[in-house]
Parts: sequence; C-alpha cells; structure tokens
Amino acid sequence: MNDACIFCRIVAGSIPATVVASNEQALAFKDLHPQAPVHVLVIPRRHVASLATADDPAELGAVMALAAQVARDAGLPASGYRVVTNIGNDGGQTVGHLHLHVLGGRAFSWPPG
Ligand code: 5GP
Ligand code: ZN
Repeated sequence: MNDACIFCRIVAGSIPATVVASNEQALAFKDLHPQAPVHVLVIPRRHVASLATADDPAELGAVMALAAQVARDAGLPASGYRVVTNIGNDGGQTVGHLHLHVLGGRAFSWPPG
C-alpha cells in the first residue's frame, strides 16, 4: 500500500468507489469521469506504478482476466470494446498506479490522439 496513491486508498476502502468486480489480485471500479457509456478501471490490488514496472505475470493475468470479465458482464463482446493502459507522460498517465481502462458502448477512432 502506498498511502499517497488514490487507487491504493480505493483498494483499502478509505476512498469510495463503485466497485463492479474483483478477484484475489485485482479490483474493477467505475471511472470518476467516464469517457464512454461503459468506462471501468481495472487495477492490481498491490501498488504497481505502471505496466513499465510490472513484474508479476500472474498478477498481470489476473488484471487482464478481470478486464475481460467486466466487459462480458457489461455485454460488450458482441459490439466490441477497447482496453487501454496509459504509461508515463507521453502515454497520458495521470494516476501512478497501473490501471486498464475498459471502454465500451460506443465506437472508438484509431489512431488515438
Ligand atoms: P490515466 O489518465 O492515468 O490513464 O487514467 C486515470 C483515470 O482515473 C482517469 O480516467 C480518471 O477519471 C480516473 N480517476 C482519477 N481519480 C479517480 C478517483 O478518485 N476515483 C475514480 N473512480 N476514478 C478516478
Ligand atoms: Zn497505488
């Protein structure tokens, strides 16, 4: 736990969040500022700064599997959806705790801006 990290505080329950799914190693909750009809963040329970410093393949698997479960539970596979993780400044990362964005319910353009 990193006391300065808002997502660690969400894991600890000291900041409220709308949790939609979880497993032993990962937690999924609604983004505070949704960019699509479905916008869920999936994070490891353990503090990991980003994909760049992730070091546990099993943990990454748990995070990815939970993202797929969130999308299934939201009925997204039929129409398609997007899973994104931003890394560092150029990646546009604003919260320094690894998170996957699960985005769905509308079409997304490519390449990203
Ligand atoms: P990033 O820009 O780091 O890839 O994404 C961070 C995301 O976290 C943003 O989409 C932002 O809306 C979301 N976010 C920031 N603070 C909070 C919070 O306290 N609670 C929730 N649920 N989402 C947050
Ligand atoms: Zn953290």
